[in-house]
Amino acid sequence: MGVTTIGWTATVTADGRVLPGYTHNEWWGCSAPAGDGCLNCYAAFLDKRTGGAYFGIGTAPRLTSERNRNQPYRWNRLAEAAGERRKVFCGSMMDIGDKNAPGGAREALWPKIVATGNLDWLLLTKRPSYLGRLLPEDWGCGYPNAALGTTVENRKSGLRRLEQIREVPARLRFLSVEPLLEDLGDINLTGIGWVIIGGESGHRCRPMQTEWVDRIIAQCREQGVPVFFKQVGGKATDAGGCLHKGEEIKEWPLWSQDVR
Ligand code: SF4
Repeated sequence: MGVTTIGWTATVTADGRVLPGYTHNEWWGCSAPAGDGCLNCYAAFLDKRTGGAYFGIGTAPRLTSERNRNQPYRWNRLAEAAGERRKVFCGSMMDIGDKNAPGGAREALWPKIVATGNLDWLLLTKRPSYLGRLLPEDWGCGYPNAALGTTVENRKSGLRRLEQIREVPARLRFLSVEPLLEDLGDINLTGIGWVIIGGESGHRCRPMQTEWVDRIIAQCREQGVPVFFKQVGGKATDAGGCLHKGEEIKEWPLWSQDVR
């Protein structure tokens, strides 16, 4: 947890510099898979490899260390001193909408986001409907520096989540179409400000078809939604860079610029 190479967490400055983002986890673990996208969950794999037992039905996530939980304040100070903005992906080892989050952990995150105004938070969940019921009283139409995203890996679970996240107030809603497992068909992107596409990585990866990606990119373009192609998928992480059929697809949402 700290600086990350995940491409979509980067921030591109006005003079073209690419600033890496951060990953942050208030807790570690996930008590229940939430759809087909979870089958080869990299976080569960990483947890197992590091000797943990915090993923899967019947487990209980653990709070991360206080030092770790306070890191965003330091990142915010650094960003402020440098006159920059940085993105924070929350969380890479948790789901912000987990029903079994450690007591008080989710509640502790909200004032942290408010207090770190130089950071742009990307909150990703596979439980958008549930998360929508847990937002704090001062959330209003969304904190200016918080985006809500959900995973859309297939039609069955993903398209339902897409409908659900539209109902949740946020300054920016985004879709993580990763791992893309099938052709999503026609998608309505009303209310969505950013789409990230990626194939599955790892040894048991399920291959993604080029045509499925074509169709999503075409619909993003038709509906005026920025699209970011993360990776083609395969054994290596970030295989193929952001190239889709030889074209770099790396578009960013109007977010910080838009709301400030
Ligand atoms: S919801 Fe996220 S963290 Fe939990 S099993 Fe699925 S992919 Fe892993």
